Amino acid sequence: MRVSKRLEQLYAIGGGPGANRPHGRAEEDAAHEFAGGWMKEAGLAVEVDQSGNLLGRSPVGADVWVGSHLDTVPRGGRFDGALGVVAGIEAVERVGCGAVVVFRGEEVGCIGSRALVVRGGPLPRAFLELHIEQGPVLERAGAPVGVVTSIVGYARGELLFEGRAGHAGTTPMDVRDDALVAAAEAILQVREAAVRIDGAVATVGQLAVEPGGSNVIPERVRISVDARAPHARRLDELIAAIGFEPVHRTPPSAMAEEPRRILLEEIVSRGLPAIELPSGAGHDAGILAAAGVPSAMLFVRSLNGGLSHSPDELSSEEDIELAVDVLADALRRLASAA
Ligand SMILES: [Zn+2]
Repeated sequence: MRVSKRLEQLYAIGGGPGANRPHGRAEEDAAHEFAGGWMKEAGLAVEVDQSGNLLGRSPVGADVWVGSHLDTVPRGGRFDGALGVVAGIEAVERVGCGAVVVFRGEEVGCIGSRALVVRGGPLPRAFLELHIEQGPVLERAGAPVGVVTSIVGYARGELLFEGRAGHAGTTPMDVRDDALVAAAEAILQVREAAVRIDGAVATVGQLAVEPGGSNVIPERVRISVDARAPHARRLDELIAAIGFEPVHRTPPSAMAEEPRRILLEEIVSRGLPAIELPSGAGHDAGILAAAGVPSAMLFVRSLNGGLSHSPDELSSEEDIELAVDVLADALRRLASAA
């Protein structure tokens, strides 16, 4: 299948292990080159906007967009972002209408889609994003695809702890001011704060310890905080409970009624279960939705228990084929509705 072949071509760019196309690096550019070439092969008119986002327009209904992103986390999977782009090109080529977009820097705070909506457009009339679920819900439900109801809001920032450096051998325990011990307590509080709020999650994924000697009491520790919740009020509660100042913040965004309904109808008409689910991950579709673009997302089942941001991320060829089919028919309906 051409989609799988193209996913492999993109996966090979970073040189492995895993997909390695972080935003702003030559590997992301190389992936955009591939996508631009495929768009031209499909007969699309290719444009690059001021932020580096790539758009391939067909002659008809090019104000309805499908697409996703090509940047990855370090050692990412084959499907995250790349599937939505490759499937999007396939769908636009197949139905001969609509446009396919590739956003820059999704993994680092949706830089490309944010730049697009801040600049004020031109924004699409509707946006569909096909994406791997990155979670276990569809696999557990035995459903190959599902439709997203809303995208969680998230906040990212840091917490800083300052102590006093000292000799690990000669400084008695009762006079120490160890920044890492303070940080460790805070990390447990981050977890507790999320556990107490329904649907919330919070993660500390980075830890920077200075001066970083094995025989030196830590003086400065910086930890990252990633906090998410499905409703704005709960996100506020979570941020307050953790006690950090978000640097990036994206409110939760609901997917639009019409494109959601069209995706569901296409799923049901194929005799498949109508599964709807929230997205725990942020996506470009959330940024566009928040800017008023009617947006919807089609999730394709993740295998391996929903593992993602990992080389073991997996979806089957059959599920992908089905998802491309649903996406193409939904695009056709949206792009032909004036
Ligand atoms: Zn993604």
